[in-house]
Amino acid sequence: MDDTKIALVTGANKGIGFAIARGLGAIGFTVAVGARDGARREDAVGRLRAEGVDAFGVALDVTSDDSATEAAATIERTAGRLDVLVNNAGIAGRSDDGAQDPTTLDLDVVRAVLDTNVLGVVRVTNAVLPLLRRAGSPRIVNMSSTMGSLTLRTGPVMAAYAPSKSMLNSVTAQYARRLADTTVIVNAACPGYVATDFTGFAAPRTPEQGAAIAIRLATLPDDGPRGGFFDDEGPIPW
Ligand code: NDP
Repeated sequence: MDDTKIALVTGANKGIGFAIARGLGAIGFTVAVGARDGARREDAVGRLRAEGVDAFGVALDVTSDDSATEAAATIERTAGRLDVLVNNAGIAGRSDDGAQDPTTLDLDVVRAVLDTNVLGVVRVTNAVLPLLRRAGSPRIVNMSSTMGSLTLRTGPVMAAYAPSKSMLNSVTAQYARRLADTTVIVNAACPGYVATDFTGFAAPRTPEQGAAIAIRLATLPDDGPRGGFFDDEGPIPW
C-alpha cells in the first residue's frame, strides 16, 4: 500500500460535497465519492477524474445500515484503509404546510431528517471506523450548520432541520470524548450560506468557499482541536 491518503466524502455527487471531494483531490487525496444514485455518482467521478483527481465511486445511502457496511467493504477492497471521513450528506426536509413549524410539526419529516443528518453520520462513522483506525492521522468532519447553534438563533424556524444539527454537534462531541486517547480527530463544521440545490442556489457563498472549512478540518495537524464546531472565522458558539 502506498502512502496516498484516502478520503470518503458522503453526498459527494453535488454541492458542497462535490467541492470537498475536488478540494481534497487537488491536494493529493484519493477520493471515495459516496453517493446513493449510481448515475449521479459515476457522473461526479467522471468530472473529478477529468480534473485529474484520483476518484472512485462508492455506493452509499446513509439511511441504510447495509449500504454503510457495504461501502466500508468497498473502501477496504479498493484502498485498504481510510484517512479522512467527511460526513457531508444532509437534507433540509420538507417545510411546506407547516411541516417544520414546531406547532404543526410533521413527525415523519423529523424522522427522515434525523435518519439522514444524525443517524446517517453514526452509521457511516461506525462502519468505517476500523478503516480509520488503520491510518496514521485519521480525521472525521461532520458538516453541521449554525442553524443548530442554540445561542446564535440563525436562519428560519425549522424544527426538524435545526435540531438535527444541534444533535449532530452533540454527537460530534461524544465521539471526540470517546476517541480522546486515539489519533482520530473529530470536529463539526459550518460551511456558511452556500449556493447549492439545498438553498435553491439563492445564497452568497460558492460551494468551494463552503468546502474550505471541511478541508481545513480534514487536514488538521496531530495536535489540532477535537470535538469543536468551526467555520472560516474559528470556533462557533453552540
Ligand atoms: P445539496 O442538497 O446540494 O447536496 C446534498 C448531498 O447529500 C447530495 O449529494 C445528496 O445526494 C446527498 N444525500 C442526501 N441524502 C442522502 C442519503 N440518504 N444518502 C447519501 N447521500 C445523501 O446540499 P449542500 O451541498 O448545500 O449541503 C451539504 C451539507 O452542508 C449538508 O449536510 C447541509 O446540511 C450542510 N449545510 C449546507 C448549507 C448551505 O447553505 N448549502 C448551510 C449549512 C449547512 P442526492 O443527489 O442523491 O440527493
